[in-house]
Amino acid sequence: MNTRNAYKIRASRVSSPLNKAPVGMAQSSALPQAKSSYSSKQNYDIGAKTPMDLNSVCEALPERSCRHPLTNMRQNAHLARCEESIKVRFDSITPTLKKLANLQHENDFVSKADSVTSKELGFNFPIELLETAWVDGLNMKALYAKAVFNALNSSIAQFSDDLGRNEDLRVDADSFFLDCGYHSVDITPCSDGRLKGLAKYILRLPLSAITVRNSYAGALFNVESNVRDWEKIELDRLRNGKVLDDGNGYLKIVVYHRSGSDPSHQGCAAHGSNDKVSAEAGLEKLTEFREAIENTYCCGSAIDILLIGVDTDNDSIRVHVPDSAGNISVHRYVDTSELYNETLSMSIDQARVKLYNAIDICSDSSGWAQGDGRPHEGMRKVVANLLEYNLSQIEYVADLYGGMYPDIGHAERYISVGDGFQEIQLRNIAYFAHLDTVEEGAADLDIGIKIFTGLNLNKGLPAPIAIHYRYDSKVPGSRKRLIEKCNRVKNAILNRYKQLAENNNLYFQISIQDLPLGSSLEIISEEA
Ligand code: ZN
Repeated sequence: MNTRNAYKIRASRVSSPLNKAPVGMAQSSALPQAKSSYSSKQNYDIGAKTPMDLNSVCEALPERSCRHPLTNMRQNAHLARCEESIKVRFDSITPTLKKLANLQHENDFVSKADSVTSKELGFNFPIELLETAWVDGLNMKALYAKAVFNALNSSIAQFSDDLGRNEDLRVDADSFFLDCGYHSVDITPCSDGRLKGLAKYILRLPLSAITVRNSYAGALFNVESNVRDWEKIELDRLRNGKVLDDGNGYLKIVVYHRSGSDPSHQGCAAHGSNDKVSAEAGLEKLTEFREAIENTYCCGSAIDILLIGVDTDNDSIRVHVPDSAGNISVHRYVDTSELYNETLSMSIDQARVKLYNAIDICSDSSGWAQGDGRPHEGMRKVVANLLEYNLSQIEYVADLYGGMYPDIGHAERYISVGDGFQEIQLRNIAYFAHLDTVEEGAADLDIGIKIFTGLNLNKGLPAPIAIHYRYDSKVPGSRKRLIEKCNRVKNAILNRYKQLAENNNLYFQISIQDLPLGSSLEIISEEA
């Protein structure tokens, strides 16, 4: 990560328009130059009135403004600080363990190790993992897993703290969705680690404003289970005196992903890296869900659906704009990577008008993309806001990575099994297998193990697996039953991957959390 630029975003307090463009969004010929020149400039400072000829990318695109008018600079600075502090926790692990490997046969090793790990990782390993090093050598797999889980737990504490500080954003977002006609927003992204920062970074939505969040491989969610989520929310509304015909509906969003630079290899593994198949599969699930509600409760009009595609190279999105009947086509969408370029030199007002025009032009498409007119005003506002918020993320990726992530493929740090750590929102931090039982989640788990075979196992490192579920403290016995479930899932994983377990390649942490977002993390066990 280019921490120098992250720091300089943080240092910035001025968002005055600059003269030239920072990055060649969707400019394939300019991209390699963009990456190398961007990271090599020592004096690039977006806050100062720096001569833009320091950045040769700007010279490649001289006609554009360097700072997109709709970028939320303060938010970008905060997110850069957050990303930097989380990633450094994980990225320091391997170099620190290499230092310990060199020290392990020295006199007074334990105190030397404590000194190194306090400084580099911010914690000390349990003495039993260190004191016998002179006899058998260090158990590096155990140390690695311990360090990963420690980084994970401290990251959760940081994200939870951040959630508490952003209560005003949640209230704003709740009001916005209600204003657009939605009492609840339900998002299902693919469980791919590159979408782990979806809400906080890519869509810029407060996590707490999303009512239901569940990831599945290929975004192929369980329709029956999602219908139960809907029933629970509507029952709650009914019990609290909110009638079903109050004009507010339920918005279900599916997010698939693709790779603009390497579509046939770095797209969605669950759909054979095929963009069209990924989008069609997401749309099919959305349609099934809407039909299920309609057929069961005769109130399909209460459900709106939305399909979004993320280019995981640069976090730009395609929003598939519904027509007047709420129907979606995989061929009809607005792409923010194109909008970014088209609005870069505009004023704030001009850029916002352009976003709304783009939605209307999209709605009026003919041929394969043709639909039945324009969506209702609430949906139009939701789409316009999603487009605008994502422009800040495009600018963020431009500032920190020259417009394209260096890790366009997988770089996850651990496998998350169960309900997942909703609070953690950061790209490529975890591969998530959402499951109730290993039998039904076997396909998702197998993909995770395959990914970690390349990332860790082939390099001699174990796969750290964090089993995590949320209980409801309002329900008697819920916590106890959940702990039993965690242990059942762990034993089933050990049973499914016997060979890996026998070779000491699987390490587990079991943790639980009460339902409300930001509840404290309870570690139940941590062992191989
Ligand atoms: Zn995927």
